[in-house]
Amino acid sequence: MIKIKAAVTQGQGEPFKIEEVELEGPKSDEVLVKIVATGVCHTDAVARDQGITPYPAVLGHEGAGIVEQVGDSVETVKPGDHVVLSFAYCGHCENCLTGHPAYCMVFNELNFGGRMRDNSHRLSRQGEKLSTFFGQSSFGTYAVANERSVVKVDPEADLALLGPLGCGIQTGSGTVLNALKPEFGSSIAIFGAGAVGLSAIMAAAITECRYIIAVDIHDSRLELAKELGATHVINGRKEDVIEAIRGITRGGTRYALDTTGVPPVILQALRSLKPLGRLAVVGVTPDLTLNVHEDLMAEGKTMTGVIEGDAVPQIFIPQLVEYYRDGRFPFDKLVKFYDFEDINQGFEDSKQGHAIKPILKFPS
Ligand SMILES: [Zn+2]
Ligand SMILES: [Zn+2]
Repeated sequence: MIKIKAAVTQGQGEPFKIEEVELEGPKSDEVLVKIVATGVCHTDAVARDQGITPYPAVLGHEGAGIVEQVGDSVETVKPGDHVVLSFAYCGHCENCLTGHPAYCMVFNELNFGGRMRDNSHRLSRQGEKLSTFFGQSSFGTYAVANERSVVKVDPEADLALLGPLGCGIQTGSGTVLNALKPEFGSSIAIFGAGAVGLSAIMAAAITECRYIIAVDIHDSRLELAKELGATHVINGRKEDVIEAIRGITRGGTRYALDTTGVPPVILQALRSLKPLGRLAVVGVTPDLTLNVHEDLMAEGKTMTGVIEGDAVPQIFIPQLVEYYRDGRFPFDKLVKFYDFEDINQGFEDSKQGHAIKPILKFPS
């Protein structure tokens, strides 16, 4: 048992409070990681405000750090390794075994249930159990995670930058590279130029899509989208999006990705596809009414949900680090650093659009 500092979420919608809490050491298949930095992802705000994990909890699910200690059966990392923490999965179910751990049959339980896989807690505060989030709870100076969630990364890369590869950036880029897989010379429209959408744009540039169209309502975001590889940008407040996309592509895109979770935007995305087009949705989206005949069936279109970019983190995250190193995936342009103690400011800036991807740095 060690004492750590962690940002505790006490109840629904309450601000983070940094407190001293206790963390149990790693069990045989777990790893203790000294957290260097952690990204702030939209799902953390959802968990703070909507209670998808039982309170009180320590949130945070884009941790990056250095392995401090490993359990007896851990084989893939050793103390001193630089690692990124990603989502939890069981490794045994059909979807895990066929290379789709983001669709693990017990994904919700392992990532949002508040407990580790053996059903016990690792975090407590004066005897009171605290929920673990995404199997890691990286809003703390140390975290314990199952080996499966721990991804070894190139020690030459700037570790403080890498945490968001564990979720938000993996989601955007993976949805393009692992799920939609646009062909060379193909076309894609990306709705929403936040951290997830901009990551998707960089990934689309890697695949050399002929048309990479960014749609957003803020010109500054669209400027950045261009810098990161968008061939065309559309401000949805100023232009008719469907008409503009059909004009640019002579009939519509082959692929689309919605990161906004806004129902009318999803309809735009669907309707700006050409026949046989595929739309992936990755935002938390409420009810949506669509005309199944016109919007899907009659044009052979597909709308699919994608979680965590359908990635196998141990394979995909090191690839993203390589693309970054080669200058083909400059995700550092999305990042704004904050001290851990300014966690509430980081969330506020993210909400207000002042920061695309806040990263909290821990004192070393
Ligand atoms: Zn599984
Ligand atoms: Zn996330």
